[in-house]
Amino acid sequence: MIRLRHVRKSFGACAVLRDVSFDIAAGEVACLIGPSGSGKSTILRCVNGLESHDGGSIEVDNVLVTPRSLPQIRSAVSMVFQRFNLFPHRTALENVIEGPVHVLRRPIAEAREHAMALLEKVGMADHADALPRQLSGGQQQRVGIARALAMEPRAILLDEPTSALDPERVGEVLEVIRGLAEGGMTMIVVTHEIAFAREAADSILFVDGGTIAEQGPANEFLANPKTERTRLFLRRVR
Ligand code: ADP
Ligand code: MG
Repeated sequence: MIRLRHVRKSFGACAVLRDVSFDIAAGEVACLIGPSGSGKSTILRCVNGLESHDGGSIEVDNVLVTPRSLPQIRSAVSMVFQRFNLFPHRTALENVIEGPVHVLRRPIAEAREHAMALLEKVGMADHADALPRQLSGGQQQRVGIARALAMEPRAILLDEPTSALDPERVGEVLEVIRGLAEGGMTMIVVTHEIAFAREAADSILFVDGGTIAEQGPANEFLANPKTERTRLFLRRVR
């Protein structure tokens, strides 16, 4: 469903992605791991067109990511951010219906009903009328996930969805993501939570210096990393 071939991206003189290729199948959950600054966020941002890539190709559902296809790509792929990025003056429910009403042009009543079902799914129905600042980080992130789902995406990209959370809030968000994985949602998750990756991921891609340094099925990758570089990294994050 998501296919990258020889993707390159520079910021000025800085080559951030040097030759990135991988495939994510429908229903696959892939975890992107790797050191800070290695290009993980840039990969996600290129996949949904928040950044343009300089070379190589990206396809989502057989549609090439180009300036012209952006509206189509963005409706196929939703993003969940580290810092939640909820609208601060809108309630949880209003945050979730924003995209469906204004982008998908759904009737408000229908969007509300769907949004309530999604808030229910992430355990936030009781907080539908709360403003983001009245919610904990974990609760805000669960609203962020409901908002991503509300766009009825084919795939969801999550960029360190738990790294801005207090440790005791991490579990509730991972639980929601695990539920989506079990439901068959296609996801790319940037995470440092190796225990989560072991449990929920089908595959792991290790990003280092703007390339995919190693990739494989999650169990195999974690039990038997092939390179010394990967072994060192895993030892440090565990
Ligand atoms: P990661 O998510 O793995 O920590 P990023 O993809 O955020 O890495 O960043 C990779 C590199 O690209 C870093 O060196 C970062 O400073 C640089 N970078 C990212 N975004 C920009 C930008 N908009 N302008 C300039 N440099 C950027
Ligand atoms: Mg990042």
